[in-house]
Amino acid sequence: MQSIIEVMQSQLWFYLITVGLVSLCVGSFLNVVIYRLPLMMQREWQSECRLLLDDELNTNITKPKNTSEPFNLVKPNSTCPKCKTAIKPWQNIPIISWLILKGKCASCSNPISIRYPAVEAVTALLSLVVAYTFGATEQALLYIVITWALVALTFIDIDHMLLPDQLTLPLVWLALIAAVGGVTITPSDAVMGAAFGYLSLWSVFWLFKLLTGKEGMGYGDFKLLALFGTLLGWQSLLTIILLSSVVGAIIGIALLTIQGKDKATPIPFGPYLAIAGWITLLWGNQLQSAYFNLIGY
Ligand SMILES: [Zn+2]
Repeated sequence: MQSIIEVMQSQLWFYLITVGLVSLCVGSFLNVVIYRLPLMMQREWQSECRLLLDDELNTNITKPKNTSEPFNLVKPNSTCPKCKTAIKPWQNIPIISWLILKGKCASCSNPISIRYPAVEAVTALLSLVVAYTFGATEQALLYIVITWALVALTFIDIDHMLLPDQLTLPLVWLALIAAVGGVTITPSDAVMGAAFGYLSLWSVFWLFKLLTGKEGMGYGDFKLLALFGTLLGWQSLLTIILLSSVVGAIIGIALLTIQGKDKATPIPFGPYLAIAGWITLLWGNQLQSAYFNLIGY
């Protein structure tokens, strides 16, 4: 491990190319996660509900359907959603395959969404920014993994208004271990960051609900802010929250301009939080000093 890091540190180009290529492949896998993880969760809820119903009614009328076929991140193999032709390995090369196929299925010419290569490109690009900013360090490695997860979380939240615990919680534990291992901040700042991150949005949620009767956020948002608190400490929470409203305002205005007032769809809070947290992860210190300069502190 130490020697690999030394090679990476002395050869910046080798390091960046490695990060870029690995992240492209990870981006391809993230497309699978974004599409399948919510479906896997939905299937699990449905089967749990069925079991509960059987229990309640003390019958067996609700026969579980298609339990024999596995459905997870690996199985079944990817197919074209229209003609069900299996996608061959050469058709699975990040970005390149999509360009060669000109965005269409090889068998039935059904269009393949540009989102697939876009997710791959964004994953690689953001990972490269992290790698370039932090160099070949353990911190960069941690932040690159976090970046991958944030890409998946952002798109799942846009599609389903959902930030799966399966993604957020393991990252909180990972960030806690990183703090104990001396990679990020002190363990006590990390623990306080986790607790205050969760509780601050939780309080806003309940205050908002008591005042308006509406739910403006979900519990996934609390866990995502807890993750950033664990990575950056409780001191960064206010910056992240303020920045996410700025990001939200910018994207909101952009969407209003593009889609028009009546067509603009409500957007979940998760993506704003993910973007703001990621920016703070990379440039939090510069942001804070710029802000203090601005208010003449
Ligand atoms: Zn097809």
